[in-house]
Amino acid sequence: MSNVTYQVLNPPCRTLLGSGPSNIHPRVQMAMSAPLVGHLDPYFQGLMDETVALLRYLFRTQNKLTFPVSGTGSAGMQAAFDNFLEPGDVAIIGVNGVFGERMADNAQRTGATVIPVTAEWGRIIEPEAVEAALKSQKKVKLVAVVHAETSTGVLQPLAEISKLTRQYESLFLVDTVTSLAGHEVAVDDWGIDICYSGTQKCLSCPPGLAPFTANEKALATTQKRAQKVHSWYLDLSLLSSYWVTGRVYHHTAPVTMIYALHEGLALIAEEGLEARVRRHLRHGAALHNGLRAMGLELHAQEGYRTSSLTTVRIPSGVDGARVTQRLLKEHNIEISGGLGPLRGKIWRIGLMGHSSTDENVLLVLSALEKLLRDEGYRLERGSGTAAAIESLNS
Ligand SMILES: *Cc1c(COP(=O)(O)O)cnc(C)c1O
Repeated sequence: MSNVTYQVLNPPCRTLLGSGPSNIHPRVQMAMSAPLVGHLDPYFQGLMDETVALLRYLFRTQNKLTFPVSGTGSAGMQAAFDNFLEPGDVAIIGVNGVFGERMADNAQRTGATVIPVTAEWGRIIEPEAVEAALKSQKKVKLVAVVHAETSTGVLQPLAEISKLTRQYESLFLVDTVTSLAGHEVAVDDWGIDICYSGTQKCLSCPPGLAPFTANEKALATTQKRAQKVHSWYLDLSLLSSYWVTGRVYHHTAPVTMIYALHEGLALIAEEGLEARVRRHLRHGAALHNGLRAMGLELHAQEGYRTSSLTTVRIPSGVDGARVTQRLLKEHNIEISGGLGPLRGKIWRIGLMGHSSTDENVLLVLSALEKLLRDEGYRLERGSGTAAAIESLNS
């Protein structure tokens, strides 16, 4: 016997309404307890094919190269930059929050020149600013933006920037970690060349995989690279030999995680993408209306707010961290605080995937009302839930 002390595993059942992970469906939970098979087992290979087909449905793409990268959303981000940039390339990156900053950091590490296009944290990247940056360079390899910036709650419009990337013959790269399966994402119709996501946000699976897709136009550029992709683990040419063109061993696929993703994607297909997006919109709107009726201010630019993640300003005199801690301890509800310059200034409330329900909207509003009252914040009794109910019924 070792003398290491440890506890018996018994995690609490939380209501996950933060920036991710979201709650998972019982069927996804069950999938993870299914018997393990080998990663080259014919049974598993069949599941891989179906997972790819379901991911194409979700991304709304015909791209051959569509598969889940082993690793969290950040692995998808790194795969995108490592494969499509190298020294000598120029990349324009929209930076209006934590994840834009991370994209710029990833791009910089490839040795490429990064031209950041910035906006205040809480506002969209203006297409005019992207165009000015495109004009200022001889040749831009790619333009990257975050669709749903999880640190600010902003939903970036993509149509105009997409058009610009075609006009200036650049690749268009979009982070859809917090939008895919919660907001509309149409990779082919919207002219997105490279796109990645994560499993633990609106897909409602555990963290650990990064759905990824890239079209032929983007992949053709990798053939012309002067250098090998620096990362062996994330080299798309090696990964596609396992996922797309054959079943050549590269690394052992996380079999159990792929069971979970397959089940999560099946649930999405059963609900239907349109119905799922409508559900997120409906609950996002009810939460927004409820919070506003409580006299609180939403942080993200009006007209560009995500429904999967709501940012709300902490009113003066209220200890934001104490409210978050009490929500977890006394109400079993997880929400998130602000990051970077928004630390201590906002709360972030997620309604993603399986967590996006009528009951969770009312639950978080009523718990928040109680705790805000305890903080001495004055509000009309039941104002938040009343507005949310009205919104849900309309
Ligand atoms: C969560 C998130 C990521 C990173 O995903 P991880 O799974 O935490 O690695 C990247 N981009 C956005 C927009 C995110 O919300």
